[in-house]
Amino acid sequence: MTIEQGDLCYVDDASRPRVVFGAGSLADVAAEVTRLGGSRVLLISTTSARTAADGIARDIGDGIVGRVDGVAMHVPDDEVRRTRALAAKLTVDLVLCIGGGSAVGLAKSIAHETGLPLLAVPTTYAGSEMTTIWGRTAEGRKQTGRDSQVLPHTVIYDPVLTVGLPAAMSITSGLNAIAHCIESLYAPDATSLTTRSAADGMTALIASLPTILREPADLAARARALHGARRSGQALESTQMGLHHVLCHALGGVANLPHSPTHAVLLPHVVAWNESAAGSALDPVRSALGMHAGDRSIGCSLWDFSRRLGAPGSLAALGLSESHVAKVLDDVDLTRVRHPRRPTTEDVRILLMAGLSGQRPSPEPQAS
Ligand code: NAD
Repeated sequence: MTIEQGDLCYVDDASRPRVVFGAGSLADVAAEVTRLGGSRVLLISTTSARTAADGIARDIGDGIVGRVDGVAMHVPDDEVRRTRALAAKLTVDLVLCIGGGSAVGLAKSIAHETGLPLLAVPTTYAGSEMTTIWGRTAEGRKQTGRDSQVLPHTVIYDPVLTVGLPAAMSITSGLNAIAHCIESLYAPDATSLTTRSAADGMTALIASLPTILREPADLAARARALHGARRSGQALESTQMGLHHVLCHALGGVANLPHSPTHAVLLPHVVAWNESAAGSALDPVRSALGMHAGDRSIGCSLWDFSRRLGAPGSLAALGLSESHVAKVLDDVDLTRVRHPRRPTTEDVRILLMAGLSGQRPSPEPQAS
């Protein structure tokens, strides 16, 4: 153990990424950079993480040869090109990122193109730091792929960094992580191990988010949620995601919608549509939500849970219009989605229109 304070703390280096988890672990960044042999480090940070990034820069000193402050959502292509050119000019040997999934995403794109090692310090619950998935956006289309080079060598999770994540963002980010867990549960390649990660992650998040909403500075709840985010990232990494993720990526590309609020709105609808086909695979969701025998729809229970947490209820409120829906229907490749239920274009239109208007999901799945 290198960390001695906080409710939950551990070092896990049985496999990549090495994980350093615990309140105060931000102080370990310099030592972890040294451990990775980084001597010419490019530091990428979201605006929200600037103060923490300044502290890292002070700790590492001359080892930080360049900084990128403030990254855009959805990893735009031109930002990747600029950052890659900077990394080449500065002969960088390690990329260090601190911030939400957007900062991690930009750093992963640089690792994808250059093979540079990566150290990530996430400050939201997106879970990207645990995956080999990269994503970037060009001309309104978000492309994703897998590459083992983008998996960070080390991840430092410091719950203190998440205390400033506004409650509303904490809730949608947590629901984003819950979406990884749920789609992992009914994935065609789910195993008992991936189901354990998903159930563990989802249970931690569902238990901690109401506390975070009431008391954003509750460090024990923040630690539990961040641990849940790590587990959700593991579930995302090890299984094939379904319709929900395909649609959220398409919406991000077509309409530049904010990532986690889009997940928060759409998840109950997709779950309601999938749940009879998914059957007992979704039992861990029932138990994490504390559903009773008489509660029929997991999608509706999730909807009620996110309403109680004040999450946004409609895609229209996030900036989606009917013309965007038409473009998503033209763009989206539904042949990739087979499990637990094959969607038709009409199914997706109904789902997106329900999300657009913000109506409660239908407790009975629509016919396809
Ligand atoms: P984000 O990184 O865009 O952050 C959202 C907002 O929260 C930003 O304004 C940011 O500055 C602010 N913020 C972040 N941490 C904060 C903190 N601790 N305190 C205060 N403000 C803070 O959003 P996100 O939801 O974390 O990430 C979304 C991106 O991650 C998308 O591009 C998505 O596709 C990607 N993603 C990728 C994977 C993967 O495996 N590749 C997985 C999940 C998400």
